[in-house]
Amino acid sequence: MSYNIKKTVTQHSKIKDLDFSNIPPFGHAFTDHMFIADYLEEGWTNLEIKPVENLSMHPANLTLHYGQSIFEGMKAFLTGDNIAVLYRPYDHASRFNRSAYRMSMPEVPEELFVQAVKELCLTEKNWIPEQPGSALYIRPFMIAYDSVIGVKRSKTYKFIILTSPSGPYYNKPLSLKAELEYVRAIKGGIGEAKTAGNYGASIFPYSQAVAAGYDQLLWLDAYEHKYVQEIGTMNIFFVLDGVIVTPELDGGILSGITRDSLLKIFKANGYKVEERQVSIDELIEAYKKGIFTEVFGSGTAAIVAEINKIDINGFKMEFYPEKFVSAAFARDYINKIRKGELPDIFNWIYPIE
Ligand SMILES: *Cc1c(COP(=O)(O)O)cnc(C)c1O
Repeated sequence: MSYNIKKTVTQHSKIKDLDFSNIPPFGHAFTDHMFIADYLEEGWTNLEIKPVENLSMHPANLTLHYGQSIFEGMKAFLTGDNIAVLYRPYDHASRFNRSAYRMSMPEVPEELFVQAVKELCLTEKNWIPEQPGSALYIRPFMIAYDSVIGVKRSKTYKFIILTSPSGPYYNKPLSLKAELEYVRAIKGGIGEAKTAGNYGASIFPYSQAVAAGYDQLLWLDAYEHKYVQEIGTMNIFFVLDGVIVTPELDGGILSGITRDSLLKIFKANGYKVEERQVSIDELIEAYKKGIFTEVFGSGTAAIVAEINKIDINGFKMEFYPEKFVSAAFARDYINKIRKGELPDIFNWIYPIE
């Protein structure tokens, strides 16, 4: 099934203003067009690709007051043969709908989600950067659109997709501070949804950590402040005594598509992998024994982000990212699948032309 998406193309492209050898920091540059659709009584309607423009909303807009708002983050790349491809778009579509379900918002049919992403990316193909490690970042999101003050489900919504060229991710190793006071998410809460409130709540503790000289927080479970959950907007992996370990999904952890990709890649290549609880005490013990050899984050933006320092309540650990073999292996593997240099045995690459 195919949807009818109206398309209005700008006569004034801004692409000549973009210096592709020096793309602005992540999330600052936007392409010419966006996708936008309305959810009204009859379902999704007014499907349209058009020049990016401001939204107009009543100040009582429900999203502004009560945060019925979800998003995704995904990427389009060019392969070595200059074909535009998406990475695991149906997995992003289904996670978007899981977020929608939790936030009591309407689902976007997966076929509509993927078709809208695809047509927008094709419209913006010239904006997909070519340099290795760069991509067109895609931000689908949905907001409530009723103008009513009252904590209840909105009847109307907007589903919008923006695209933003992003340069090669600069893999500067990150320093982490274990957050012992504030929490990101709790089972039964909204941690598994990519919804605005999780990020709003993290800004205060995150800013404190940055002011103290750290790059990111290591989030711990909300009950005992003991088990590792994730970092910033990434999942986390450890290598402990030669085994790749990542915290098991606990009802608060966001289920990353990169996390899932890494687990599958490691398993398929003979690495020993465990998804289980990881406590900060275990990390400290392993570090003291010298068997804690790697630690890295995983997410769409960086794929793999090496960590060189962790501070757990004053106990400081140091790592040597240039010696991280598993992290380098996983990054290289995903990059090669994306470029078409390795067979796509997992069916993750989705050509859009
Ligand atoms: C998006 C996100 C991730 C990573 O998910 P990917 O699908 O791998 O990009 C991890 N944690 C949080 C909190 C996130 O928002």
